[in-house]
Amino acid sequence: MADTDPADQDTGRIELSDAEWKKRLTPEEYRVMREKGTERPFVNKFDKQFAAGVYVCAACGQALFRSETKFDSGCGWPAFYAARAGARVTLTPDYSHNMVRTEVTCARCGAHLGHLFDDAPQTPTGQRFCINSVSLKFIPDSTSSENPRADQKE
Ligand code: FE
Repeated sequence: MADTDPADQDTGRIELSDAEWKKRLTPEEYRVMREKGTERPFVNKFDKQFAAGVYVCAACGQALFRSETKFDSGCGWPAFYAARAGARVTLTPDYSHNMVRTEVTCARCGAHLGHLFDDAPQTPTGQRFCINSVSLKFIPDSTSSENPRADQKE
């Protein structure tokens, strides 16, 4: 396990009560991550950020996306064309709001992250992980302990 990304070493699921999540998260984080809300487009913190680094789950710290797969989709939220190699995201059909979508959640803590769409032909995968900024925390490479060998390189 010596070559494993530190972010991958704790693979245990995190299951907390709603009251415990309320204590750990800000009201906006709770609304989006636990109540499947959506933050406002364009005015969120990572929409136009393209610095090198890793995006981790804001609730549990699991590494989810790499900056290399981030692209400007114009939709107003951070967009990635792939989850980071080794990332544990769960994809679930979502039929809410009279739409058929694919919900993206953190497989470790169950946090709602956003949705996955197949509408990005300009990317290598054609996919667009449309993710709420508030569901992510950004760790720049200069301070990250992430093992580059574990990274997804296109
Ligand atoms: Fe999580």
